Amino acid sequence: MEAILVLTHADETGSALTKASLETVTAGLELAARLSAPLAIGIVAVDATAAASLPSTGARLLAVSGEAFAQARYASDAAAVEALARAAQATIVLAPGTSRFTRVAAGVAHRLGGFLDTHITALGGTDTIEATRWFYRQRIEAVLSRDARPWFLLLDAGTHAAFAGEHGAAPVEQIAVQLPALRTTVSGLRAPEQGQQTIRPDAKLLFVAGAGWTKKQHDGQAHPAEAGKLILNFLHATGASLGSSKSLVDQGGEGEPVLPFLTHMNQVGQTGATPRHAKGLSTCCHGEEPHVVGWRFVGERRAINMDPNCGWARGKADVVYVADAFEVMAKVNALLEAAKA
Ligand SMILES: Cc1cc2nc3c(=O)[nH]c(=O)nc-3n(C[C@H](O)[C@H](O)[C@H](O)COP(=O)(O)OP(=O)(O)OC[C@H]3O[C@@H](n4cnc5c(N)ncnc54)[C@H](O)[C@@H]3O)c2cc1C
Repeated sequence: MEAILVLTHADETGSALTKASLETVTAGLELAARLSAPLAIGIVAVDATAAASLPSTGARLLAVSGEAFAQARYASDAAAVEALARAAQATIVLAPGTSRFTRVAAGVAHRLGGFLDTHITALGGTDTIEATRWFYRQRIEAVLSRDARPWFLLLDAGTHAAFAGEHGAAPVEQIAVQLPALRTTVSGLRAPEQGQQTIRPDAKLLFVAGAGWTKKQHDGQAHPAEAGKLILNFLHATGASLGSSKSLVDQGGEGEPVLPFLTHMNQVGQTGATPRHAKGLSTCCHGEEPHVVGWRFVGERRAINMDPNCGWARGKADVVYVADAFEVMAKVNALLEAAKA
């Protein structure tokens, strides 16, 4: 019989689990119920009170905690994950595909003589486990099964609902870890301030800016400063995540007007990201296939384009507003401002 371990880790507060971890808990509960297999949830956190979000799962809770696990670091995280997998005698290890676990999962799978698959989007099968992932830039969907155990599966964020049980105290078994010599000292984190960070995978809405924002408008002039203000005001008011077309982020190198807050990290599409958001709003973007392929997992799609013959209007969006995005977004921002007041 399989023994399932779900790996989780704390967020930056140290006292709650990350959303991606809670999504993996949901996947683990579903899989354990389907296979009638025992389930353990392993927690890596500075202190195990992060388990307070898990009292009603019915699963065995194992924790590795202490100052050494406050920050991500290969040696300590790999030791923690190995100890949890051994304590649970896991044959299947589900982990969120966060940078923290992605970094160590392959190494630990190797130490345990197991196997790892990444970017898993679904788990199916009745008696066996069938893991689904996409290849070739989300064009081919494959279903994998393996005999190798332990089988580590890193789940893509946004593919399962986050577990939302009652909060409270849950009995947690502390797992001792033999730490190797730690050569890396984490002296702190350097990250963009909250307001400057425009890529927000957990946001409900993806706002995409296309090259039209910096093109000449009907008065014969480009208005990149106004475009930047409209976009940033909308992002601040809604907390939406900012995506971009390739043409717009490439423009810097071409000496054309640019929006300074955009980088290639924002690019959505065949050679960019494939984010998962409930809704998407594309603005001043033509909706060409290499871009739209990145929208594969966006739920409801809307676009604003002055061209009634743009790609979005050809069946790629649910709603297309044939309108000037400068005017529409100015009005939307005014409505958001009024609603806040
Ligand atoms: C191998 C390969 C890989 C690629 N990978 C990617 C990728 O990963 N991501 C990606 O995005 N592209 C990718 N591309 C490029 C892609 O084919 C398009 O060239 C690109 O997406 C076009 O960007 P755009 O729609 O922003 O710009 P444009 O094609 O210039 O479109 C601008 C749009 O803005 C509209 N517009 C202008 N002013 C306004 C206004 N005031 N209001 C409303 N609308 C307005 C115009 O009508 C026009 O439709 C790839 C191409 C190749 C060959």
